Amino acid sequence: MTFRTRFAPSPTGPLHLGHAFSAIVAHDMAQNLGGTFLLRMDDIDRVRSKPEFEKQAMDDLHWLGLRWPEPVRKQSRSALHFKALIDQLSYMGLVYPCSCSRADVEQASDAPQEGVPTHGPDGRIYPGTCRNRDMGSYENGDAIRLNVAKATKVGNLPSFTETGPRFEGVHRLSAEDLQATIGDFVVSRRDTGAAYHLAVVADDTDQKINHVVRGEDLFEATRIHVLLCHLLELPIPVYHHHRLIRDQNGKRLAKRDDARALAKYRSDGATPQDIRRMIGLPVQSAAI
Ligand code: GLU
Repeated sequence: MTFRTRFAPSPTGPLHLGHAFSAIVAHDMAQNLGGTFLLRMDDIDRVRSKPEFEKQAMDDLHWLGLRWPEPVRKQSRSALHFKALIDQLSYMGLVYPCSCSRADVEQASDAPQEGVPTHGPDGRIYPGTCRNRDMGSYENGDAIRLNVAKATKVGNLPSFTETGPRFEGVHRLSAEDLQATIGDFVVSRRDTGAAYHLAVVADDTDQKINHVVRGEDLFEATRIHVLLCHLLELPIPVYHHHRLIRDQNGKRLAKRDDARALAKYRSDGATPQDIRRMIGLPVQSAAI
């Protein structure tokens, strides 16, 4: 099968050195393996996504020397497909509506017990307040959550292959682990519709992505993505989570770190080769 990957930034701020690293690693892996590198705009958050960030991102990536087939897919265009997948989970009896705000979740959560995780990839693990509701009681403004205890009883839980340096190997999903460390996660948000986890799985499938290359910060969320693929009978890609680019204090770069925006380095006269050097990538294109 030909290697096919993507870089999928959310256009909610300027790209920084961390994005450059992720995009170049994915691009170079595809190039070295004779595969395809796609660009996708994960603009599902309609409030925070801005066309000017999209334009700037494409401009920066071109400047870095990266190329991809056009047209660039936009996540916001897939809303109907996302809805169909949520309906499928609903038909399977695996989801429920939830009216809890973030503050409700904090308040309803038990006092932390030693050794029991309180936070998962999406923050506070949901205490299950609305779990007994069914979709018949859905009201406008509700989010929709997956009942993970029920979901883990569907068929045999799958495994996924990771090729990144830190977590390399085969990882099997476990019902106990999913319930204890992830909990009932949101598949549809009250504000943006489909949540990131569902949207990313749907778009990766549609784009026939068979190797997901992205930062280590998303490794924990991968179990959610693999579980969704399993439930929705979608192919499970191979994953490659690469190291993160950090500032001098060891903190992961964030979009608000404008000082490290690629545009800033460009206007200061840096070359694409300087950027490769700064993030520890070989100046001649090569995968890590
Ligand atoms: N759009 C996500 C982000 O910017 C990345 C999605 C992914 O690579 O799975 O963090």
